[in-house]
Amino acid sequence: MSTKDYDLFVIGAGSGGVRAARMAAGFGARVAIAEDRYMGGTCVNVGCVPKKLYVYASEFGKAFEDARGFGWDSSKPAFDWATLRDNKKTEISRLNAIYRKLLGGANADILDGRARLVDAHTVAVGDRQYSAEKILIATGGWPRIPEFPGSDLAISSNEVFDLDYFPERLVIVGGGYIAVEFAGIFNGLGAHVTQLYRGPLFLRGFDPDIRAHAAREIAKTGVDLRFEVNVESISRGADGLDLQLTDGTRIAADAVLYATGRTPHLEGLGLENVDVELTEFGTIKVDEHYRTSESSIFAVGDVIGGMELTPVALAEGMDFARRQFGEPGQQVDYDFIPTAVFCQPNIGTVGFTEEEARSKFGHIRLFKSNFRPMKHTISGRDEQTFMKLIVDKASDRVVGVHMMGPDAGEIIQGIAIALRAGATKAVFDSTIGIHPTAAEEFVTMREPWTED
Ligand code: FAD
Ligand code: NDP
Repeated sequence: MSTKDYDLFVIGAGSGGVRAARMAAGFGARVAIAEDRYMGGTCVNVGCVPKKLYVYASEFGKAFEDARGFGWDSSKPAFDWATLRDNKKTEISRLNAIYRKLLGGANADILDGRARLVDAHTVAVGDRQYSAEKILIATGGWPRIPEFPGSDLAISSNEVFDLDYFPERLVIVGGGYIAVEFAGIFNGLGAHVTQLYRGPLFLRGFDPDIRAHAAREIAKTGVDLRFEVNVESISRGADGLDLQLTDGTRIAADAVLYATGRTPHLEGLGLENVDVELTEFGTIKVDEHYRTSESSIFAVGDVIGGMELTPVALAEGMDFARRQFGEPGQQVDYDFIPTAVFCQPNIGTVGFTEEEARSKFGHIRLFKSNFRPMKHTISGRDEQTFMKLIVDKASDRVVGVHMMGPDAGEIIQGIAIALRAGATKAVFDSTIGIHPTAAEEFVTMREPWTED
């Protein structure tokens, strides 16, 4: 029997930490978990969950317009930001309580407060110290805003959910997940949104056709999308915030949202007291079992970098708990992790981009489809769905699937199972479609767009 206070001390009650704590406690370990802000972490409080609720809110405006062609008529409905924000708060409080209950139910001790490493087996929370056989760092990430004149006037995704006013004129800086999603949210809610991206085309890392399609479709929704431009300075002017841009133009705004990436949340963690190495990106360096260079200390989730997604943090938390306190299962497999960008319409993607597939497999076949969703034949909306399959010519295996269209996130989740199972194009072709759906297009694309 260990003489330490705990078998496991988890720092951070977000996606990865909570899952690891609950599972380890379920295996009989004596577990404590410290959290200094909110139960459930980024995803529950300022990430996936409130974001998706706001995405739903933003889609109603479009739905009211689309309904007209189908015979529904009504006066223009009004949107009230305070109602959305406060209903969101109520729902998140409900989830916070559930997380607390789940941890309590698993017999994990919850310590409210900021945790600091004292040594390789000791953690301080407030003025108390706790010893533990193993420590898990699951402190996630934090928004990163570059420094420039007036950068203190910008907000991040942490603040945008709870603004006490609705930003009628919103400028969003960045071209990644958060920037693109929030451009869609606030545009859908009725704000005038300008999105600025420093490079020639946003969504770096996504398939090139998806990036180009997204630029066209998002611009059509009314977002003022500008590439090759950045912010030089922000100041307070007579008409709200005054932005000076690198192309010499100015914009007036009520709020400026910086979505320029996230940085590992390591501040005040006491890393100087232990031998935990960092990578060149400032993330915590771990081996394949999530062990850091300090053998009693482990780390999972956003703080170790890689794909910063909730299901990835959950998988790592489970793998860690099983391996250290239960029966080790399969290691986390980072291949073919599907992901979605909840813009309007959604982007869903799994597997390799065209460039990646070409360099990995050499010869590939591409299948593409671009069409107007059936709904919009009557709604009149000018929106195109895009789908793309990438096939390794030698094995016939489908190695990349990309889509931008309604419910792409939902559709690609199912396709990801097929890709992980090694489905070939022949399997896709022999699968009977569900008619009439957009998804059936994935099993009816017969003629390659190109092959090389
Ligand atoms: P976190 O969930 O960030 O949890 C870390 C916790 O540690 C936090 O609660 C923090 O307060 C706490 N903490 C930090 N330091 C200390 C300390 N010293 N002491 C005590 N507690 C500490 N992912 C998806 O898969 N789908 C999405 O749709 C999605 N949308 C997102 C939208 C936004 C706006 C953002 C910002 C992120 C989104 N993500 C999404 C990413 C997802 O939220 C993260 O990948 C996930 O939360 C990572 O989990 P984690 O456990 O590593 O860290
Ligand atoms: P991303 O890394 O996705 O995007 C950051 C963007 O900011 C890039 O376009 C980048 O440009 C740009 N940028 C970086 N630095 C600067 C700068 N100094 N000036 C101007 N632009 C800059 O980060 P996000 O903040 O959007 O999201 C963080 C992570 O959270 C995501 O990577 C994702 O893992 C996760 N997330 C997941 C979601 C989902 O699953 N739906 C939703 C939201 C977040 P460049 O490309 O040129 O480097």
